[in-house]
Amino acid sequence: MEAKEKDILRGGQFLVKETKCEDIFTLEDLSEEQKMMRDSTKEFVDRELWAHWERFEKKDYAYTEECMRKAGELGLLSVAVPEAYGGMGMGFVSTMLVCDYISGATGSFSTAFGAHTGIGTMPITLYGTEEQKQKYVPKLASGEWFGAYCLTEPGAGSDANSGKTKAVLSDDGKYYSISGQKMWISNAGFCNMFIVFARIEDDKNITGFIVENDPENGISLGDEEKKLGIHSSSTRQVFFSDTKVPVENMLSERGNGFKIAMNALNIGRIKLAAACLEAQRRVINEAVKYANERIQFKTPIMNFGAIKAKVANMATNAYAGDSACYRAAKNIEDRIAIREAAGNSHQEAELKGVEEYAIECSILKVAVSEDVQHTTDEGLQIFGGMGFSAEAPMEKAWRDARIARIYEGTNEINRMLSVGMLIKKAMKGHVDLLGPATAVGEELMGIPSFDAPDFSQLFAEEKDLIARLKKVLLMVAGSAVQKFGPELEKHQQLMLAAADILIEIYMAESTILRTEKNAKRFGEEAQATQIAMAKLYLYNATETIIQKGKEGIVSFAEGDEQRMMLMGLKRFTKYTNNPNVAALRTQIADKVAADNGYTFD
Ligand SMILES: Cc1cc2nc3c(=O)[nH]c(=O)nc-3n(C[C@H](O)[C@H](O)[C@H](O)COP(=O)(O)OP(=O)(O)OC[C@H]3O[C@@H](n4cnc5c(N)ncnc54)[C@H](O)[C@@H]3O)c2cc1C
Repeated sequence: MEAKEKDILRGGQFLVKETKCEDIFTLEDLSEEQKMMRDSTKEFVDRELWAHWERFEKKDYAYTEECMRKAGELGLLSVAVPEAYGGMGMGFVSTMLVCDYISGATGSFSTAFGAHTGIGTMPITLYGTEEQKQKYVPKLASGEWFGAYCLTEPGAGSDANSGKTKAVLSDDGKYYSISGQKMWISNAGFCNMFIVFARIEDDKNITGFIVENDPENGISLGDEEKKLGIHSSSTRQVFFSDTKVPVENMLSERGNGFKIAMNALNIGRIKLAAACLEAQRRVINEAVKYANERIQFKTPIMNFGAIKAKVANMATNAYAGDSACYRAAKNIEDRIAIREAAGNSHQEAELKGVEEYAIECSILKVAVSEDVQHTTDEGLQIFGGMGFSAEAPMEKAWRDARIARIYEGTNEINRMLSVGMLIKKAMKGHVDLLGPATAVGEELMGIPSFDAPDFSQLFAEEKDLIARLKKVLLMVAGSAVQKFGPELEKHQQLMLAAADILIEIYMAESTILRTEKNAKRFGEEAQATQIAMAKLYLYNATETIIQKGKEGIVSFAEGDEQRMMLMGLKRFTKYTNNPNVAALRTQIADKVAADNGYTFD
């Protein structure tokens, strides 16, 4: 069905507008074409990556490159590339599916894949001229060439616009000479082309360039970095010394590089979140298989409540990640389609479509990268001593997961961005936070209703609770904005607490809506475990929100205001019927144990 502008929320609006379960996309809505894409990706992973995981651990960079070429032959590198440039031109959901399912075996490959297809290729498809796209994109889409992205420098990491790399125009105006040092560059060891960000004269903002990798042209590489994980992902420093780049290789306009870098990262963030999903599912599968087989005290360890609690939380977080990632992916896909229908070029439509959901992209990057870390950690714990052994799969999964919290913008930066962007959207009038925040303020002054609500319908209480959790954020963030105005950004601990509340609301709501939609069409009985997971996720989310809400309130409000807000926090986070958390966990774990793995995707 074609999406209409009025049917889909703008980025960040989920906080103040109700979403109906019918309006969200779920993994259960995949088309046959999308399922084929997912299945062929899985097959590739099983055959080429999972079966050879030792090679990735032994720093076999050549094997990573070989697998990248094979992925190119299968078309996996071209899913997001428009057909006009040799790609498959598939929708955003399909591109997410490939990023998701390709991530299962090794972080080495998914990093190489992400750096090439995302930040290595997208800046050209999104900002390149027709000539640039014709010249470079078909080669990148087929895997004949590989790309890398050079933004970070020794002195410019999170502060990406502060790089010192220089681009100097030649006297004849025909080329720029680029000089500078880039570090942590994924794919540097085997790429044919770099997207390089450099400063022209004393410009406020950096500029993007397409730079072909030619050692004869002043380009040299540092040694492979010795890393904690993703051992076969090539990560090297790249040195440019008077590297000559034709003027026609400038990306977009002079001074537009920071914007390009940030927009490429928006897409990178949601795709990185997707790339943490299959990794979680596979870790759960391995952990549950082990727990079903490992006997201690004359029983499989899977039978112990301590292990069940871990498995239930791992499965629940993976399910929440699936729910939220594909909800946002379809919103982006729909917005791109709406913009194209309104006459925008695909390039413009995609840029604006993703930019619209930059808040959700940051939320997902943080939430899912932390879930994969938690899941690998618990998976390792389930393996006991064997978890610590490099012979078993958990040790590498644990190490590989760690990077996701650092690259594509650290989780601290993304937390602050998510709240900062929300406040900016409110100020621009794109999301009306002021009205709802004022209403919450008035509600706090009023007498609470003592009517007994009717919670007989599935998720009636949970949806009521989510609506109230949104009020917690409006209350805390609204008062903080009133108190500090634009200075709020400097109160980072408050911003981080608000971000955690925002993240939990989005994840919990997505999980409930997906399950409600599926319960309506497949029946509550068929969705019993998913219903338990949705309830467990919301319970855990509410606990986080209570903690972060309190932390925020006591950190800036005093006296009567503080007392009133703490009372509001209690009212807005209260269950009428507390869920039996242990029973939920047992129910979920028993199903995962019986299936010998995660079967909800
Ligand atoms: C394996 C790997 C692959 C990578 N691949 C690429 C690549 O292909 N291309 C590329 O350009 N880069 C790449 N990077 C770089 C990566 O994006 C950066 O490491 C990341 O952005 C963080 O920058 P930094 O390391 O300089 O840390 P810093 O910016 O120095 O941050 C250090 C700590 O300070 C915190 N911090 C920084 N600024 C603030 C602030 N304003 N407020 C609060 N806290 C703050 C951070 O959150 C972090 O915890 C890669 C890095 C690694 C490790």
